[in-house]
Amino acid sequence: LWQDVPLAPPDSIFKLTAAFKADTFEKKVNLGVGAYRDDNDKPWVLPVVQKASTHSLASQRVLSDTSLDHEYLPITGLALFTSAAANLILGASSPAIQEQRAVSVQTISGTGANHLAALFLSRFYKWNGAPQIYLSNPTWANHHAIFKNVGIEPVDYPYYDPKTIGLDFNGFIGALQNAPERSVFLLHACAHNPTGVDPTSEQWAAVADVMIAKKHYAFFDCAYQGFASGDLDKDAWAVRHFVEKGVALLVCQSFAKNAGLYGERVGALHVVSSNEETAGRVKSQLSVLQRSEISNPPTYGARVVSLILNDAQLFEEWKEDIRTMAGRIIAMRKELHRLLTEELKTPGNWDHIIEQIGMFRADRSGANERELQLHGNQWGAEQAAG
Ligand code: PMP
Repeated sequence: LWQDVPLAPPDSIFKLTAAFKADTFEKKVNLGVGAYRDDNDKPWVLPVVQKASTHSLASQRVLSDTSLDHEYLPITGLALFTSAAANLILGASSPAIQEQRAVSVQTISGTGANHLAALFLSRFYKWNGAPQIYLSNPTWANHHAIFKNVGIEPVDYPYYDPKTIGLDFNGFIGALQNAPERSVFLLHACAHNPTGVDPTSEQWAAVADVMIAKKHYAFFDCAYQGFASGDLDKDAWAVRHFVEKGVALLVCQSFAKNAGLYGERVGALHVVSSNEETAGRVKSQLSVLQRSEISNPPTYGARVVSLILNDAQLFEEWKEDIRTMAGRIIAMRKELHRLLTEELKTPGNWDHIIEQIGMFRADRSGANERELQLHGNQWGAEQAAG
């Protein structure tokens, strides 16, 4: 048995992390994994997370309905967490929430949300022919695998223009216009991985208009809310605008980066439907799928995030921690730009370093980025981390 199983290459990012750990060079720096590091190049446990984990008063109040035992959560997760998570991304005054037509399910971080959403679409989306999803070129490499795993074929849409080191807006809009009606487009809500290139709000508004006109479906992946600008609401602008305009959509949400809870796997999938009755049916099917996949999601990280989101003071402290992280990333970009231009007088224009946002960056060689990623090249790993 298994003699014919081909040997798969190791995951380039996690391979790099293992090599980094094994390396004894004292000035080593890991540019691979998309995880925040502090001034000492160390992982940062957010002060608010530390506090929430030990905050007995808040714990008792917020956790009283589940108690601190190790019982199973409901299939769709901790309700206090999923409802607060929906408010966070959609906005508490979102028409989708007010009209009770947003369904939220706790998932295994952002990856699990992408998978559950992909599985749900593969079963229930009214496909216009063979199931396919439009992915930005380039995108987080795992998107390709996640959709292929459930029989949805990834198709590229133009996104990054290596000539301008910015957004290929005309190519992007053209792809939306030329795609068959009711196509599914994956959109990075903010801090695009791996380029750090985001549309402006005017460009997002134009994208929403075409999506409405063509009845496209928006599959939002939101792994960096707050991490891009330091402002949770600003980073949710595109998602909220699309909801207001009535674009049919879902959102995959991760708390790995913005709460520094990478390994705890805290995330949610929010599906916005046209009415409450449909939302109930969507929820019933998501529950069936979730039951067969993971039965029920893990408790610890969801409890911590639920505490933070549902306690006014902890929420303020979290926002401060987010500003610390986003502020440092922005400061690092400015400093690198200053060193390259003012100090080293490096020829060429380096403005893209301060124009791009979040942890990732792309440059002129980004043209080959996808290919490099797929071949596990280190350059690709550096760009497409996480
Ligand atoms: N989507 C994107 C675009 C990402 O960059 C990441 C993290 N690298 C994820 C989803 C999922 O991350 P996680 O499963 O750790 O939440």
